[in-house]
Amino acid sequence: MYYPEPMARLIEELRKLPGIGPRSAQRLAFHILDSSKETIERLLSAITEAREKVRHCSICGNLATSDPCALCTSAGRDRSVICVVQEPRDVVAMEKTHEYKGLYHVLGGAISPMEGIGPEQLRVKELVERLKGGEVKEVILATDLNVEGEVTATYLARLLKPLGVKTTRLAHGLPVGGDLEYADEVTLAKALEGRREL
Ligand SMILES: [Zn+2]
Repeated sequence: MYYPEPMARLIEELRKLPGIGPRSAQRLAFHILDSSKETIERLLSAITEAREKVRHCSICGNLATSDPCALCTSAGRDRSVICVVQEPRDVVAMEKTHEYKGLYHVLGGAISPMEGIGPEQLRVKELVERLKGGEVKEVILATDLNVEGEVTATYLARLLKPLGVKTTRLAHGLPVGGDLEYADEVTLAKALEGRREL
């Protein structure tokens, strides 16, 4: 390493972040070293505060500052339908459509034998638990439109069938292989409207 030790250590830590390669890590490190003390303090407190105050809602698994989250406790949501997504960012994508008024369930990923992720690593048990009350009439399987997402949706459809809950899948027309979060609002709203029963 040609950098002073503390800078080398900073680069090394930055490199551990997702999507940050060696060059980006160096660029960020230079930027940080050139920033004012106040800027760095703001960044550090934002990281610390987010880490301390944001948690997963114990009902839906979404990220929130309260548990249960505001979506789960909202009186304005349709409690007869649950939209199952992989990640909290997918909830944001769905909310942006302004078309969906039901509840959510965040799995925390998708089934992927390649990565050793099975149903027991996801919030599947919690989903089944939520359906036991009989209030939920429909579960929309809005997992990603790639292999893992499809496998997960098929698995859940089979699992939920005996519970007498209608399961639907978002209509095609979404970018194939793409994450839900990359779909634009209009496309996602259309896919939601055209959902089909499994
Ligand atoms: Zn919640």
